[in-house]
Amino acid sequence: MLNLVLFGPPGAGKGTQADFLIEKYQLIHLSTGDLLRSQIAAETALGLEAKSYMDKGFLVPDSIVIEMIKSKLQENKDANGFIFDGFPRTVEQAIALDKLLDENETPVSGMLCLEVEKQELIDRLLSRGKTSGRPDDQDVSIIENRIQEYNKKTMPLKDYYMAQNKCHKIHGMGSIDEIAQRLIDTVSVL
Ligand code: AMP
Repeated sequence: MLNLVLFGPPGAGKGTQADFLIEKYQLIHLSTGDLLRSQIAAETALGLEAKSYMDKGFLVPDSIVIEMIKSKLQENKDANGFIFDGFPRTVEQAIALDKLLDENETPVSGMLCLEVEKQELIDRLLSRGKTSGRPDDQDVSIIENRIQEYNKKTMPLKDYYMAQNKCHKIHGMGSIDEIAQRLIDTVSVL
Protein backbone atom coordinates (compact mmCIF):
# COMPACT_ATOMS: atom_id res chain seq x y z
CA MET A 1 0.00 0.00 0.00
CA LEU A 2 1.33 3.41 -0.96
CA ASN A 3 0.40 6.24 1.41
CA LEU A 4 1.71 9.60 0.28
CA VAL A 5 1.51 12.86 2.19
CA LEU A 6 1.58 15.72 -0.31
CA PHE A 7 2.90 18.65 1.64
CA GLY A 8 3.57 22.32 0.97
CA PRO A 9 2.25 25.82 1.52
CA PRO A 10 -1.01 27.06 0.01
CA GLY A 11 -0.46 27.53 -3.72
CA ALA A 12 2.41 25.00 -3.89
CA GLY A 13 0.46 22.95 -6.45
CA LYS A 14 -0.63 20.06 -4.21
CA GLY A 15 -4.04 19.62 -5.86
CA THR A 16 -2.63 19.82 -9.40
CA GLN A 17 0.12 17.33 -8.68
CA ALA A 18 -2.20 15.03 -6.74
CA ASP A 19 -4.11 14.44 -10.00
CA PHE A 20 -0.97 13.05 -11.69
CA LEU A 21 -0.05 10.80 -8.79
CA ILE A 22 -3.60 9.45 -8.40
CA GLU A 23 -3.73 8.47 -12.05
CA LYS A 24 -0.27 6.89 -12.04
CA TYR A 25 -0.58 4.94 -8.79
CA GLN A 26 -4.39 4.47 -8.56
CA LEU A 27 -4.62 6.10 -5.15
CA ILE A 28 -7.59 7.54 -3.29
CA HIS A 29 -7.35 11.31 -3.04
CA LEU A 30 -8.08 12.70 0.41
CA SER A 31 -8.04 16.49 0.37
CA THR A 32 -9.33 17.95 3.62
CA GLY A 33 -9.83 21.32 1.87
CA ASP A 34 -12.11 19.67 -0.74
CA LEU A 35 -13.94 17.68 1.94
CA LEU A 36 -14.55 20.85 3.97
CA ARG A 37 -15.73 22.79 0.90
CA SER A 38 -18.25 20.04 0.11
CA GLN A 39 -19.56 20.31 3.69
CA ILE A 40 -19.92 24.07 3.17
CA ALA A 41 -21.76 23.53 -0.13
CA ALA A 42 -24.10 21.05 1.59
CA GLU A 43 -24.68 23.65 4.33
CA THR A 44 -24.03 21.16 7.15
CA ALA A 45 -23.34 22.29 10.72
CA LEU A 46 -19.74 21.12 10.31
CA GLY A 47 -19.46 23.14 7.08
CA LEU A 48 -20.81 26.23 8.75
CA GLU A 49 -18.31 25.95 11.59
CA ALA A 50 -15.39 25.29 9.24
CA LYS A 51 -16.33 28.22 7.00
CA SER A 52 -15.82 30.71 9.81
CA TYR A 53 -12.14 29.69 9.98
CA MET A 54 -11.56 29.11 6.28
CA ASP A 55 -12.90 32.47 5.16
CA LYS A 56 -10.32 34.18 7.36
CA GLY A 57 -7.45 31.91 6.28
CA PHE A 58 -7.12 30.12 9.63
CA LEU A 59 -6.85 26.37 10.15
CA VAL A 60 -10.03 24.63 11.27
CA PRO A 61 -9.81 22.70 14.58
CA ASP A 62 -7.83 19.44 14.48
CA SER A 63 -10.75 17.36 15.81
CA ILE A 64 -12.89 18.22 12.75
CA VAL A 65 -10.35 17.21 10.10
CA ILE A 66 -9.12 14.14 11.99
CA GLU A 67 -12.70 12.82 12.24
CA MET A 68 -13.22 13.39 8.49
CA ILE A 69 -10.04 11.50 7.59
CA LYS A 70 -10.91 8.69 9.99
CA SER A 71 -14.26 8.06 8.34
CA LYS A 72 -12.75 8.23 4.81
CA LEU A 73 -10.12 5.64 5.75
CA GLN A 74 -12.86 3.37 7.11
CA GLU A 75 -14.92 3.81 3.91
CA ASN A 76 -11.95 2.81 1.71
CA LYS A 77 -10.45 -0.20 3.41
CA ASP A 78 -9.61 -1.96 0.10
CA ALA A 79 -7.74 0.97 -1.46
CA ASN A 80 -4.29 0.61 -3.13
CA GLY A 81 -3.24 3.54 -1.03
CA PHE A 82 -4.02 7.16 -0.29
CA ILE A 83 -2.72 10.54 -1.20
CA PHE A 84 -3.20 12.97 1.66
CA ASP A 85 -3.46 16.48 0.25
CA GLY A 86 -3.50 19.34 2.74
CA PHE A 87 -3.52 16.89 5.65
CA PRO A 88 -1.87 16.67 8.13
CA ARG A 89 -1.33 20.37 8.78
CA THR A 90 -0.40 20.25 12.48
CA VAL A 91 1.71 17.91 14.57
CA GLU A 92 -1.50 16.78 16.35
CA GLN A 93 -2.94 15.74 12.99
CA ALA A 94 0.25 13.90 12.00
CA ILE A 95 0.22 11.94 15.24
CA ALA A 96 -3.46 11.09 14.73
CA LEU A 97 -2.77 9.97 11.14
CA ASP A 98 0.08 7.71 12.25
CA LYS A 99 -2.25 6.13 14.83
CA LEU A 100 -5.06 5.60 12.31
CA LEU A 101 -2.69 4.07 9.75
CA ASP A 102 -1.04 1.90 12.41
CA GLU A 103 -4.44 0.36 13.08
CA ASN A 104 -4.46 -0.77 9.41
CA GLU A 105 -0.75 -1.64 9.52
CA THR A 106 -0.07 0.62 6.51
CA PRO A 107 2.21 3.50 7.53
CA VAL A 108 2.92 6.71 5.63
CA SER A 109 5.30 5.71 2.79
CA GLY A 110 6.68 9.19 2.32
CA MET A 111 6.04 12.88 2.66
CA LEU A 112 6.55 14.86 -0.55
CA CYS A 113 7.32 18.44 0.34
CA LEU A 114 6.82 20.95 -2.47
CA GLU A 115 9.01 24.04 -2.02
CA VAL A 116 7.90 27.26 -3.73
CA GLU A 117 8.94 30.90 -3.22
CA LYS A 118 6.46 33.11 -1.35
CA GLN A 119 5.75 35.63 -4.14
CA GLU A 120 5.06 32.77 -6.55
CA LEU A 121 2.55 31.32 -4.03
CA ILE A 122 0.69 34.63 -3.80
CA ASP A 123 0.65 35.06 -7.61
CA ARG A 124 -0.63 31.50 -8.15
CA LEU A 125 -3.39 31.83 -5.52
CA LEU A 126 -4.60 35.19 -6.82
CA SER A 127 -4.63 33.83 -10.34
CA ARG A 128 -6.55 30.70 -9.23
CA GLY A 129 -8.98 32.95 -7.33
CA LYS A 130 -10.13 34.50 -10.62
CA THR A 131 -11.62 31.16 -11.68
CA SER A 132 -12.02 29.10 -8.48
CA GLY A 133 -14.42 31.56 -6.87
CA ARG A 134 -12.78 30.68 -3.52
CA PRO A 135 -12.99 33.72 -1.22
CA ASP A 136 -9.71 32.67 0.47
CA ASP A 137 -7.88 32.90 -2.90
CA GLN A 138 -9.03 36.42 -3.71
CA ASP A 139 -7.75 38.62 -0.91
CA VAL A 140 -4.04 39.18 -0.24
CA SER A 141 -4.51 39.60 3.53
CA ILE A 142 -6.34 36.24 3.76
CA ILE A 143 -3.62 34.63 1.64
CA GLU A 144 -1.00 36.12 4.01
CA ASN A 145 -2.89 34.56 6.97
CA ARG A 146 -2.86 31.18 5.25
CA ILE A 147 0.89 31.41 4.64
CA GLN A 148 1.45 32.50 8.26
CA GLU A 149 -0.62 29.58 9.55
CA TYR A 150 1.51 27.30 7.37
CA ASN A 151 4.77 28.74 8.68
CA LYS A 152 3.66 28.60 12.30
CA LYS A 153 1.69 25.34 12.57
CA THR A 154 2.41 23.24 9.49
CA MET A 155 6.12 23.78 8.81
CA PRO A 156 7.12 21.91 12.04
CA LEU A 157 5.81 18.77 10.35
CA LYS A 158 8.93 18.71 8.19
CA ASP A 159 10.93 17.87 11.32
CA TYR A 160 8.29 15.34 12.38
CA TYR A 161 8.66 13.40 9.10
CA MET A 162 12.40 14.06 8.87
CA ALA A 163 12.79 12.25 12.21
CA GLN A 164 11.09 9.25 10.57
CA ASN A 165 13.30 9.57 7.45
CA LYS A 166 10.20 10.22 5.37
CA CYS A 167 10.58 13.88 4.33
CA HIS A 168 11.45 14.33 0.62
CA LYS A 169 11.93 17.91 -0.54
CA ILE A 170 10.80 18.63 -4.11
CA HIS A 171 11.64 21.80 -6.02
CA GLY A 172 8.16 23.15 -6.77
CA MET A 173 9.00 25.85 -9.33
CA GLY A 174 8.91 25.23 -13.09
CA SER A 175 6.33 23.67 -15.39
CA ILE A 176 3.60 21.35 -14.08
CA ASP A 177 5.13 18.45 -16.05
CA GLU A 178 8.63 19.08 -14.71
CA ILE A 179 7.37 19.08 -11.12
CA ALA A 180 5.26 15.95 -11.75
CA GLN A 181 8.36 14.16 -13.05
CA ARG A 182 10.34 15.12 -9.93
CA LEU A 183 7.54 13.71 -7.76
CA ILE A 184 7.35 10.47 -9.75
CA ASP A 185 11.15 10.06 -9.58
CA THR A 186 10.93 10.41 -5.79
CA VAL A 187 7.97 8.05 -5.36
CA SER A 188 9.67 5.41 -7.52
CA VAL A 189 12.44 5.01 -4.93
CA LEU A 190 10.25 5.00 -1.81
P1 AMP B 1 -6.85 23.93 1.05
O1 AMP B 1 -7.92 23.59 0.08
O2 AMP B 1 -5.99 22.74 1.39
O3 AMP B 1 -6.04 25.12 0.63
O4 AMP B 1 -7.57 24.34 2.41
C1 AMP B 1 -8.41 25.46 2.48
C2 AMP B 1 -8.70 25.80 3.93
O5 AMP B 1 -9.35 24.69 4.55
C3 AMP B 1 -7.47 26.05 4.79
O6 AMP B 1 -7.03 27.39 4.71
C4 AMP B 1 -8.01 25.71 6.19
O7 AMP B 1 -8.84 26.73 6.68
C5 AMP B 1 -8.92 24.53 5.90
N1 AMP B 1 -8.19 23.24 6.00
C6 AMP B 1 -7.96 22.35 5.00
N2 AMP B 1 -7.29 21.29 5.44
C7 AMP B 1 -7.06 21.50 6.77
C8 AMP B 1 -6.38 20.79 7.79
N3 AMP B 1 -5.78 19.62 7.54
N4 AMP B 1 -6.36 21.32 9.03
C9 AMP B 1 -6.96 22.48 9.31
N5 AMP B 1 -7.60 23.23 8.39
C10 AMP B 1 -7.64 22.75 7.12
